[in-house]
Amino acid sequence: MTKIKFQTPSGMHDILPEEEKYYYKIEEIARKIADFYGFGKIHTPIVEQVGLFEKSVGNSTDIVQKEMYTLKTKGNDWLALRPEGTAPIARSYIENGMYNLSQPVKLWYFGPFFRYERPQAGRYRQFWQLGFEALGEKSSIVDAQIIQICYNLLKELKIKNVIVELNSIGDKECRPSYKKILASYLKKRQSSLCSDCKKRRKDNVLRVLDCKEDKCQSVKADAPQTLDYLCEECKKHFKEVLEYLDEIELPYSLNSSLVRGLDYYTKTVFEIFAKDSLEKSIALAGGGRYDDLINLLGGRNVPACGAAFGIERVIELMRKQEIIDQEPEVQIFLAQIGELAKKKSLNILEEFRKTKIKIAESFGRDSLRNQLNKANKLKAKYVLIFGQKEALDNQIVLRDMETGKQALIKLDNLIKEIKKKLKK
Ligand code: AMP
Repeated sequence: MTKIKFQTPSGMHDILPEEEKYYYKIEEIARKIADFYGFGKIHTPIVEQVGLFEKSVGNSTDIVQKEMYTLKTKGNDWLALRPEGTAPIARSYIENGMYNLSQPVKLWYFGPFFRYERPQAGRYRQFWQLGFEALGEKSSIVDAQIIQICYNLLKELKIKNVIVELNSIGDKECRPSYKKILASYLKKRQSSLCSDCKKRRKDNVLRVLDCKEDKCQSVKADAPQTLDYLCEECKKHFKEVLEYLDEIELPYSLNSSLVRGLDYYTKTVFEIFAKDSLEKSIALAGGGRYDDLINLLGGRNVPACGAAFGIERVIELMRKQEIIDQEPEVQIFLAQIGELAKKKSLNILEEFRKTKIKIAESFGRDSLRNQLNKANKLKAKYVLIFGQKEALDNQIVLRDMETGKQALIKLDNLIKEIKKKLKK
């Protein structure tokens, strides 16, 4: 066996046609939803300045500290493959003066992102995200609407057992004092923390609440909760979000240890999960409010809220829940025999394409038997047999594969006759 010389980089994979149809379907449904809610699609570059993510996602986060793919260009620019989509959109909002547009500016995106994480099931180094962002509106109804949009997308994709987990992590008024209270609580329980959390306690204390290590679970369970320390403004905002969700009967549960890994969030944070067939929860999407981000990046005070889906995870669930995409059936197959027929076949196919009738062929095969085998495999209802004589007479044989009956049709009438047959 010859050894394969080149392979995809670790944690990255080819998206072959069988899988790509899921990406296509998800994007297609997202586009319809986005159109309805007034979101315009945006593409930002795959690379951005490293500083953008350091400033927004945060210097002490795993994404910035460990997971960014960075590169120095020949012109000495220091760039990163984008690890997430919100910061580039905030940058674009400022750079393109979107303050001047009617607010909120609603944008959505779909594309690849890159994080140098340890590859494992559902975790890749190149993965796709689909996100919705609403910039320029502080009202809590936007938070509820973003969650509703995410929920609707999963519903349209027929994903079952979806649950939204929610929390509020406060804002620059109340979060600093909560962080102090949490830090002093953790200091007392320091010996019961994992080594990462010992570090987090000092430079990103909220992330301790996010820790998945067994060792930290009991410390987390007794920790002071953000919701008990919110200022009046944040409390009111969160209460309103919950009321909106109750109004639309969207299932959610409060999760006091939900803090999200990125620094730019304020107030509402959420994650969306669905259960697979083994009742295991899979994190499909995450998001929240980021009222200070645009200001932090040098722009004006523009409150905003958004969410992003991990597409590979959504696809994994679609597969596990057997939400199978039915290929449109091929009803007609064109079999050609001889040089002249082959030559004329390309034009016949064009006629079908123009009238949007799907037709298959196997131009690489010359024998009629092989071509009929292929037509059988595709479960074609009708086969058009086009030989030398038919090509000379501008005619074609139409064979009904169920009954075996054959009829000779003038090429000029072919599309009309096929339409009649398909209507039956
Ligand atoms: P985040 O941008 O970290 O908030 O993640 C949002 C969603 O993207 C998560 O809920 C996951 O579904 C997905 N996601 C994040 N990181 C990865 C990764 N490395 N591989 C695959 N999906 C990911």
